[in-house]
Order: sequence, then structure tokens, then C-alpha cells
Amino acid sequence: MVDAATLLHALAFAAERHRRQRRKDAEASPYINHPIAVAAVLADAGQVTDESLLVAAVLHDTVEDTETTFDELTARFGAPVADLVREVTDDKSLPKQRRKQLQIEHAASASARAKQLKIADKICNLRDIASSPPADWPVARCREYLDWAQAVVAGCRGVNAALDRTFDEALAEARGTLASPGQPRLPSG
Ligand code: NDP
Ligand code: ZN
Repeated sequence: MVDAATLLHALAFAAERHRRQRRKDAEASPYINHPIAVAAVLADAGQVTDESLLVAAVLHDTVEDTETTFDELTARFGAPVADLVREVTDDKSLPKQRRKQLQIEHAASASARAKQLKIADKICNLRDIASSPPADWPVARCREYLDWAQAVVAGCRGVNAALDRTFDEALAEARGTLASPGQPRLPSG
């Protein structure tokens, strides 16, 4: 069971930490929309009721993108949540390209919870690429992102079939949108 007060505490904490950040889309959407969307995908598409996983989803970018530390997350939300956020946090001392390569290499050995969180994160970013992509990205770069996300998720499959399916749908949707931007697409069935 998920304790509403704990989840709300995490949401308030993440909203405060990300308060000055924006997504990369043309409208510069509030950053907090993204962690909320990731937690919602887990709960909705993935039918996840594991509180640590949902709380970690809300907090998943706080260490990577703000001054938040793992010690702080441990003190406020407990070690299981902090450890899960650690599993999905890149080592920022490494060059970007290396970090991206390591995500592919480490995916298969991640915990079952971390795999689900990674898939939900990529689902949300694919949906963003399709509907509100980074303002300065040409189509080729969007496609490169899709290929990379697919490679990371390849190592995360097999834990939650509904999430795997939702990822495949988001990927097909994003590829379709990039193939014919602005064009209405034919229903797949
Ligand atoms: P990233 O690939 O790291 O940017 C994507 C990330 O931005 C996502 O994973 C997501 O991370 C976040 N994000 C924020 N807003 C959006 C949005 N609207 N849609 C999708 N994702 C969003 O890009 P960087 O700009 O940091 O560059 C990283 C790499 O790209 C470098 O290694 C560089 O070599 C390469 N590069 C490639 C170019 C090319 O043309 N192919 C040009 C320049 C660089 P989160 O979930 O953490 O928020
Ligand atoms: Zn994210």
C-alpha cells in the first residue's frame, strides 16, 4: 500500500528542489511535470503499488539535477528509496557520451525496481520527444535519442510486461511522429 502522506511529502520535496528548472521543450515546461509523469506511468500503465518505487520515481532526478544528496534522501525517505535513486543516477563526473554508454551497459544488472523506473523514465522522455521535443533538436538528434532509449530499455525488460508494452507503444508513436511531423497518422489497427 502507498501512504499518501509519504508520497505527498516526496512531491513537495521534489517540487521545491526542481523549482527553478525547466524542461527543454519550446514552452520550457516546469521540470516537476516530468518526475510526476514518471511516477504516474508506473502507477497507471505499470500498475505499480510499491511505495518505495513510486516515491523514488518522484525523486529520481533530484540528485542528478539539483544540490540534493543521497544522505539527505536517506534521512528523509529511508535507505530503500535513496538506494533506488542512486541506481538511476548518472555519475556526473563522467563525460556525457560515456554516461550514456554506461546506462546501456548497466541496465541488465540493475534491480527489478530500478529497471521499471528506467523504463518509465524513458517512456516519458519518448512521449516528450513526440509531443514537445527539446526546442533546438533536429529530427536526427531526436531519432538518436530514441535509438539510445531503446538500447537502455533492452536491458530492463522482463520485469513488468505492461511497462514493456507501454514503452514499445511510446517508441512506435515517437518514431511515427518523427517520420511525418505534423501529419495525422493512420490508426495502427
Ligand atoms: P540529453 O540526450 O542528455 O538530453 C535528453 C535528456 O533531457 C532526457 O533524457 C531528459 O532527461 C531531458 N529532457 C528535458 N526536456 C526534455 C524533452 N522536452 N524531451 C526529452 N527529453 C528532455 O542531451 P544533452 O543536450 O545533455 O546532450 C547529451 C549528449 O548528446 C552528448 O553526449 C552529446 O555528445 C550528444 N549530442 C548530440 C548531438 C547530435 O546532434 N546528435 C548534438 C549535441 C550533443 P531527464 O529524464 O533526466 O530529465
Ligand atoms: Zn528523468
